[in-house]
Amino acid sequence: MTKIIDGKKISSDIKEELKIKTRNLMKDRGIQPGLAVLLVGDDPASQVYVNSKQKACERIGYKSIINKQDSSINEEDVLSIIEEWNNDVTIHGMLVQSPLPSHINENNIILAINPIKDVDGFHPVNVGKLVIDLPCHVSCTPAGIVELLKRYDIETRGKHVVVVGRSNIVGKPIANLMYQKKEHANSVVTICHSACQDISKYTRDADILIVAVGRPEMIKKDDIKDGAIVIDVGINRVEANNEKGYLLVGDVDFSDVFEKASAITPVPGGVGPMTIAMLLSNTFDAAEKS
Ligand code: NDP
Repeated sequence: MTKIIDGKKISSDIKEELKIKTRNLMKDRGIQPGLAVLLVGDDPASQVYVNSKQKACERIGYKSIINKQDSSINEEDVLSIIEEWNNDVTIHGMLVQSPLPSHINENNIILAINPIKDVDGFHPVNVGKLVIDLPCHVSCTPAGIVELLKRYDIETRGKHVVVVGRSNIVGKPIANLMYQKKEHANSVVTICHSACQDISKYTRDADILIVAVGRPEMIKKDDIKDGAIVIDVGINRVEANNEKGYLLVGDVDFSDVFEKASAITPVPGGVGPMTIAMLLSNTFDAAEKS
C-alpha cells in the first residue's frame, strides 16, 4: 500500500509544538518570537503567502510585522527597512518576500540581513555553514523535507537520493542536507538539472526522489523505480474547468506514479505546508538563542 506523506498534518503538529514552546519561552524568559516580512509590490501569490505567514504567527503567539511597499520603492529604502529590523531586538527573524521588482538586486537584500535573523537561510553565511555542517538557519523547504522524512521514519542512510533541480532555495540545499554524515541523512546524492540528457536514467535509480523543477507532472511512473519514496516540491497552476479556473499540481504525475511508489507527498498538502512550519521553527530558534 502506498503511503501518503501528509505534510499538512505534520506541519500542524509542528505549529502546535511551537505554540507550547512559545508559551514557555515567554513565561520563563519574557521573550516573544518576532517575525518581520517585507512585501514589495502586488503579486497575488506573494500576498497569499505573506497573509498565511501572518496568520500562522498569530495563531502560535509570535509578534508578526508585515511591511507592504509599493513596487516603486528603491533599493536604498528597502535596505534601510532591513537595517531597522536588524537593530530591533523584538524581531528575531525577517524575510523579504520574492519576487522583487527588477530594479532591486535580490542578492544585495539577502546580504544586508543579519545572518542570525535570516530565517529563510538564504544568506551566504548560512549557506556556507550548511555546507560545512555547522548549526545555521536552513532554507525552509529543504528543512521541511528532512522533517517529513524524519517524522515518517524513512531510512535515508546509504540510500540513493536523486534531486531534480538545483535552485539555491531547494535543489542545492536539500542535496547538501541529504549527504551530511548524520541521522536522517547520510545518503548518496545525485543532482539532475536542465542540462541532463536523460533524467529518467537517474530518477529510475532513486530510492528517494526529490523533484523541484516547476514543470507540471513531468515525472511519470516510468521515471521511478518500484517502491521509491517520492517527494514532490513543485507547485504549478494548470488551467481547469472549476470555480477558480485552475488546479495546483506538482512536478510529479501523482495518479500515474501512485501505485508504483511506496510513499509520496501530494500537491497540495505535502511539502508546501512544511515551508511555513519550518520558517516558524527557524524564528523560534533565533528567539531562543537571542
Ligand atoms: P527554479 O526555477 O529556481 O529551479 C528549477 C530547477 O529545475 C533548475 O535547477 C532547472 O535547471 C531545473 N530544470 C528545469 N527544467 C528541467 C528539466 N526538464 N529537467 C531537469 N531539470 C530541469 O525553481 P525552484 O527550485 O524555486 O522551484 C521548483 C518548484 O518548486 C516550483 O514549482 C516552485 O513553485 C516549487 N516550490 C515549492 C515550494 C514549497 O513550499 N513547496 C518552495 C519553493 C519552490 P537549470 O538549473 O539547469 O536551469
